[in-house]
Amino acid sequence: MTENLGTKITCPRCKKKYYSLDSKRPSCPNCAVKDLIPDATEARVTLKIRPGGYNDEAQGWTEGVASMGKTGAAYLNCEFTVIDGLYKNRKIFSLIGLRSPKGDWWGNKGRAFIGNIINSAHGILASDQSLEAIKYRKLSSLKDLDGLEFMARISIGKDASGKPKNEVEEAVILAEPKEYKEPNTEPSVSKNENTASPPLWLQ
Ligand SMILES: [Zn+2]
Repeated sequence: MTENLGTKITCPRCKKKYYSLDSKRPSCPNCAVKDLIPDATEARVTLKIRPGGYNDEAQGWTEGVASMGKTGAAYLNCEFTVIDGLYKNRKIFSLIGLRSPKGDWWGNKGRAFIGNIINSAHGILASDQSLEAIKYRKLSSLKDLDGLEFMARISIGKDASGKPKNEVEEAVILAEPKEYKEPNTEPSVSKNENTASPPLWLQ
C-alpha cells in the first residue's frame, strides 16, 4: 500500500503539523476538534426532526418523519440545538437509527436512545412504570419527539469524510435510587394496565 499523504502543512492557529491527504481544502484536525463541543459535555437541547419522507406503517413510522438512506437504513435526521450554557445556540446534526439492514444493533440503540430522550424530557426514571410514564413513552407518531427538550450527553464522532463532528447519541437520565421501591400503587392502577400493550414504536 502506498501512502498518499499529500503535502505537510503547519497549522497557522495551533502550529501542529498535518497532511493535506487528498483534500483540496485541507483543514487542521487538531483545530477541528478544538472547535467542537468537548466529548461527554452535558447540555440541554431541543430536538428537531428534519422529515425525510419515509413511511413504514407497520412500524408506526408515518407522516414522512423518518428518512431512508441509500444503504437501506431507516433513521431520524435530527438537529439538536443547545438551549443554554456555554454552547448556547450551537447546533448538532446527527442521526437516530431506526432500522439497519445489517442487523438489530443499530435500531435497538436508537430505540433505547428515544426511550431515554422521553425519560429525560419528562424527568422520569427509566424504571418508572406508572401510568403517566407509560403514557409519555407511548408515541402515537415519531413526530411526538419533535420539539422535545432534554439533557444530552454530547460526543465526538466522525462524518462521512472522516472529519470529527459532534454527535448526540445519549440522553442524561435520572439516576435510579439504589433500592428501587415500588411507588404507592394508586387505586386506578391495575396490574393489567401496567402490562398494557407496549408503546406503538417502542414495542
Ligand atoms: Zn490547528
